[in-house]
Amino acid sequence: AGSAMLGNRSIGTVPMTAAVNQNSAPTLSVVIPCYNEGENVPLLFARLLPALEGLGVSFEVICINDGSRDDTLDRLLDLQKGESRLRVIDLSRNFGKEKALSAGLFHSRGQAVVPMDADLQHPPEAIAHMLAKWRDGYEVVFARRDARTGQGLSEKIFAKGFYWVFDHLSDVRLPREVGDFRLMDRKVVDTINQMPERSRFMKGIFAWVGYRQAEIIYHQGERAAGTTKFNSLKLLGFAFDGLTSFSNFPLRVWGWVGAMVSSLAFLYIVFRLIRTMIWGIDVPGYESTLMSVLFLGGIQLLTLGIIGDYLGRVFDEVKGRPLFIVRQLYEPAGKDDGTTS
Ligand code: UDP
Ligand code: MG
Repeated sequence: AGSAMLGNRSIGTVPMTAAVNQNSAPTLSVVIPCYNEGENVPLLFARLLPALEGLGVSFEVICINDGSRDDTLDRLLDLQKGESRLRVIDLSRNFGKEKALSAGLFHSRGQAVVPMDADLQHPPEAIAHMLAKWRDGYEVVFARRDARTGQGLSEKIFAKGFYWVFDHLSDVRLPREVGDFRLMDRKVVDTINQMPERSRFMKGIFAWVGYRQAEIIYHQGERAAGTTKFNSLKLLGFAFDGLTSFSNFPLRVWGWVGAMVSSLAFLYIVFRLIRTMIWGIDVPGYESTLMSVLFLGGIQLLTLGIIGDYLGRVFDEVKGRPLFIVRQLYEPAGKDDGTTS
């Protein structure tokens, strides 16, 4: 297998012969990461294809099999037999949605690219509205949910809290109620493909690149079949990941805390010295000693943990491993690259 190089860093490995034929570039690419979505594949295509055909533009659908353990890949390949506009990327294992999406964006060829979920929570019919805005000259058209669905009160509060913290700590502003469902111009996708970072907080990356943006409103329904792949713990890790990849504040704040604690300590030292000189030594002080030791010990450990998190991230970046590994690229009949690497 060769690798897709970016400067001297590779963002993903692909079989060597999987050269992209630029001549057949369609107008629209729809990129769909799929993880254990076997049941949803037929439902998805039954709705997606008519919606895309109604647009009157050439298109390709790229499905990324993110290491599914069910029959997702078989079903996709079955569909591909009668569908020349479907390309399937099979990753070597489960890399997670963000990286699967990166793989799809990397292989997309369309002048406009729309990432969407496989579970029909993103209505394919909305793509028509996005396309209209794109024709008006917008380079990013994001889709905003009209309401949060399938979430309890605690998740809503958590989401609010996350956005508040993110806004205050980082330079990029995340649009609310907006997920990965959006349309991006080729320029934008090329920019994102050139970002070599290993931690892919797509929401942040999409916001960071900027460009002329417009929005449309859509209604997000429930999952067509199957269950969500994200639990609360995963989401918490995801939120923390997002924060630390888009802000250095957690790293820097300890300088200020340290300065504050040191100044207070200095004042206290002066006070104790003067007291000792005037009134002599008094022995009690067990509590204050214990408290300051515990308090500072706690802060030091917390700081160390945060530095550790950033250091781990630097380690990941320095290793320069590919973001994703493509086991095989399945091109539609007639264009198959024929590799079994
Ligand atoms: N997904 C993926 N890899 C993963 C987890 C999820 O490719 O490790 C895909 C999944 O198949 C779906 C999309 O990401 O197409 C969104 O997942 P899900 O519907 O579970 O997320 P939710 O809508 O609950 O946020
Ligand atoms: Mg979903």
